[in-house]
Order: sequence, then structure tokens, then C-alpha cells
Amino acid sequence: MINTKSSNLNSGKAQELKPSKTIYLDNHATTPVDPAVLDEMIPYFTQTFGNAASRNHRFGWTAEEAVEKARLQIAQMIGANPKEIIFTSGATESNNLAIRGVAEMYRSKGNHIITTVIEHKAVIDTAKYLETQGFEITFLPVDKFGMVRPEDVKNAITDKTILISVMTANNEIGTINPIAEIGALAKERGIIFHTDAVQAIGRIPVNVDDLKVDLLSISAHKIYGPKGVGALYIRRKNPRVRLSPIIFGGGHERGMRSGTLNVPGIVGFGKAIELAAKLMPEESKRLQKMRDRLHEALMAQLDEVTLNGHPEKRLSNNLNLSFAYVEGEALMMAIPEIAVSSGSACTSASLEPSYVLKAMGIGEDLAHSSLRFGLGRFTTEEEINFAIEKTVAAVKKLREMSPLYEMAKEGIDLKSVQWTAH
Ligand SMILES: *Cc1c(COP(=O)(O)O)cnc(C)c1O
Repeated sequence: MINTKSSNLNSGKAQELKPSKTIYLDNHATTPVDPAVLDEMIPYFTQTFGNAASRNHRFGWTAEEAVEKARLQIAQMIGANPKEIIFTSGATESNNLAIRGVAEMYRSKGNHIITTVIEHKAVIDTAKYLETQGFEITFLPVDKFGMVRPEDVKNAITDKTILISVMTANNEIGTINPIAEIGALAKERGIIFHTDAVQAIGRIPVNVDDLKVDLLSISAHKIYGPKGVGALYIRRKNPRVRLSPIIFGGGHERGMRSGTLNVPGIVGFGKAIELAAKLMPEESKRLQKMRDRLHEALMAQLDEVTLNGHPEKRLSNNLNLSFAYVEGEALMMAIPEIAVSSGSACTSASLEPSYVLKAMGIGEDLAHSSLRFGLGRFTTEEEINFAIEKTVAAVKKLREMSPLYEMAKEGIDLKSVQWTAH
């Protein structure tokens, strides 16, 4: 067990697993605020509530001091200088600022941007917007594990390339990209390199110099901090990266991001990242063990289950599985006691299968049959047992009602079946 105040959250009576309780296994979507983080934040709402930009009284100075402490905590986590950290409203804004900021600032150098098909929508949609503004975007494919090939990056580079943006780890399948290799390629060609490291921070070591990253996005609420706070790392030396702002106003954050700073949120973000740094070595091992146990138990008790994502180069808390002949949404509804995501849920309103799974070459059927389990700091062994039991029962029950599953079990090749009624 991890020995902090926070790890005791699940040991108290009130937190014991009751049949009516929904267990949370969707930690890629968001995480609960760690109680130790909340404790740090509270005074900044009511007592030390100053505006960090108020230069002429103690309220302002106290707020500014707290912000600078958080900036240092965040910088230390990624091997950066605090001056290289800009606070934002979250990683969606960080990704927008990084990509649009570079596009506008370096437009005279070129109009080509390289990114990938498995990025978060905050990157993909920003790139698509820039396409309408005359930029050329290359969306690189991925291999069957969802991994970007450095070779593809290399081949896509042209004389007009001003930016490469590749996520460190994917939020659906957890696959970790070869960021250091891509960073080296970008550096060699003098191209600015951005990575969305939201899912990687606090789960694997991330160092901006080792990875040769120039811009890096982080979000607090994915690492047991509050929602609505994020940061963008912006390299100041070799090269000094300059960004056009996307929000104008009082010139906060060295003119790159105007707006009164969310002081309590930033304080919580700093504490969350400090905790993550401290807990990571043990936490990632503990989560991986539970994750592997969940994986093995589901594989042992069910047939036709496949892993989506890289078997090894994958975040320790991620398990994305396809349960053939079972529809993911139906499966989720059959296990309301467990909060997970399905491969169709991301684009929620439409039931389009996940674009990430599709990009990996997983067929529509298996993409529709996928569930993502995301373990977190407060996941317990009992919760994993509960998830195994409920998932196995639900898959078995749904398959009992599936004629396709029965036909497959009888050895009928479903591809050869003529479905049309005459
Ligand atoms: C959650 C997430 C984001 C968006 O972060 P917000 O702070 O919620 O805006 C971006 N990228 C990845 C990979 C994410 O998982």
C-alpha cells in the first residue's frame, strides 16, 4: 500500500464496497480530486483569495507566491524551468494554444503540420480548423497497436513543416508512442515538436530534455487534481519557442495567456503533480498488477476476448478489450455498477465506433464490442474482483442471447453466411 494520507480514502468504512455503489473504472476520462489536494486548495477560496496579478498588497503577493510554487512543482515533474510553464484552463486549451500559437507565429516559415489520426479531439479538431485557414495537415496512421512509427514521421517531413504533434500516450488504448525518437527527428530538422502528455504524466517518467519536446500539454484533472486547470510547457532555449496568443487581455502569463489565474485550481494542480511524482513508482506497479489480474481473469473465464493496444508499451492503468459478439453499449448497460467507457462512447451522440480503434485496423464489429477499463489511485482489489464477476456474468448473458455467437460456436463461418432474406 502507498503510505500517504490519500491512499486511505478507500480504507474508511464509508468507502466500503456496497452492492448499490457504482465503482469507478474510468480514470482516463477524469480522476477524483485527491483529499490531500483538496486540503491544499481550500484556503485559497476564502482566506488567501487574492488576485495573483495584484502587485500592491499582501493578498496579491500570497496568491502569486502560491502560483509560483505550483509552477515550480510542475516544472520539476518534467525537467523544465518554471519560466517555461504557462497555466491554462486545461489540456484542450493547451493543445489549442500550442498548435494555433505555432501555426500563426511561424506561418512565414511554412504551412505544413504533422500530427496523427489517434490524437485527442483537441488536437485533431484544431488541426482541421487550421486546414480551413490554408495549412496543410498530414494525419499519420498508426500500426495495429495504435503506435506511431518514427519512420512515417520522417517521411512526412517537408521543407514547409513547422510543427509535429504526437501524443505521448493514448487515452483509449494506453499505447505509449516512441516520443524520444520522434523528438530526435524533429530536432534534427529544426521543427517544433509538441506532445499531448495528459495521460502519461504521473504514470510514466516524462522529461522534456530526454524526449526533445518543445511544447507539452498537461491537465490537472487526469492526475487527481481539479477540473478546469492545465498547463503548457513552452521551451525557452534551443530553440526558444514563441507562440501567438489565442486569448487576449491583461497580458498575464507573459502575454501568452491572458486572464486572471485560477489560484485555488493551480495550487491543487501543483500539489497533485507533486503527489504524482512521489507516488508514481509504487502506484504504477500496483495498478499494473491489478490491471493484469483483471485482464487474465476475463481471458480465463471468457472466450473471444482480445486486447486493444500494445501488450507492453502501454499505460499501467489501461485495459481496452473487445468482447466479440457483444455490443459495447449493451454491455455497459448490463453492468451499471461499473463506470467504464465503450469504444462507441467517445463520440457519444453518434454511435460511431472509436476512430482510434478503427485507425488500428480493428473491424467495426470488434470496435463496437470494446470496453475501456481505466484503473486509478483509489481502485481496490475488491473492486477489481467485483468488476471481473459482473463483466463475466454480463458477457455470458448477452452471448446467450446472441445468435451470431451460437453460430460461431457451431463452427459456421459468419463471413460465408448469406443474410439477405428471400
Ligand atoms: C482529457 C484529455 C485532454 C483534454 O484535457 P482537458 O483538461 O479535459 O481539456 C486532452 N488530451 C488527452 C490525451 C486527454 O486524455
